[in-house]
Amino acid sequence: MSRYVGRFAPSPSAGLHAGSLVAALGSWLDARAHRGSWLVRIEDVDTRRSVPGADGLILRQLAQCGLYPDEPVWWQSRRGADYEQALLRLLQQGLAYPCSCSRRELELAGAVIGPGGERVYPGTCRDGPRGEPRAWRLRLPAGEAACVHWHCARLGTQVDAVDRSVGDFVLKRADGDWAYQLAVVVDDAAQGVSDVVRGEDLASSTARQILLQRALGLPTPNYLHLPLVRDEQGRKLSKSEGAAAVRPGAQALREAARALGLQATGDSVQQVLEQALAQWPRRRRQWSQGAHALPAR
Ligand code: GLU
Repeated sequence: MSRYVGRFAPSPSAGLHAGSLVAALGSWLDARAHRGSWLVRIEDVDTRRSVPGADGLILRQLAQCGLYPDEPVWWQSRRGADYEQALLRLLQQGLAYPCSCSRRELELAGAVIGPGGERVYPGTCRDGPRGEPRAWRLRLPAGEAACVHWHCARLGTQVDAVDRSVGDFVLKRADGDWAYQLAVVVDDAAQGVSDVVRGEDLASSTARQILLQRALGLPTPNYLHLPLVRDEQGRKLSKSEGAAAVRPGAQALREAARALGLQATGDSVQQVLEQALAQWPRRRRQWSQGAHALPAR
């Protein structure tokens, strides 16, 4: 069996909030339970959303929760050369192409909104850009090959026809930033990540990432998407909605454990982590048997 390598990959737009702490804890627990290693990668490719100092804050907060990475932290902002190389490879193979369409042009062209709320790219520039290239897109494989069947250890089998949900998606954005989909796929492979454990909000990105792995000849990791933490109105907590930062420590960890369906009552960070870890294999089994009751929303 190949070695388990897990990771937590926060975008540094703010400090940790209740939802991101759940992803941090869940990915840490899964790595520890498999006696694997746990990495932290700062996903600061989105230069407009990244907030200076948020990376250091996140790392301090993780340490205050007893969550220490096993290897030096990676920053995506330092990884541009590898992303460039991946894009170049795709371009050379005809699997990526430049695109001159602006958002407005796509609106005017009547590009439909897919089931996930994103505009489905109609393929306007597939045979060559109509003007100055702005962005670079993946050329999806034709027909059934664009329909990805994949497995999540909690959500079960998922089917996503990417040609109908988003179409040829962006690899490098018009503002020059690398797209999350490309950066995450290149880095997960470069770091030897075997298991991706993250929030359920990212399940809708997984099929795109698998198509990109296939196009680049990279392995597909195992996936586990964790329950999302919701606010009193039932909305997902996210940094962009200004969710309150957690106060790292035993209480925040107890709450994160509860969101994962674990009972941790310990007073110290160490006790909470030990209790949660002892319960994790059973929790995971329940999820994979489909016997889980989702935590109250
Ligand atoms: N950087 C992403 C986020 O903070 C997570 C990426 C991932 O885990 O794949 O939402």
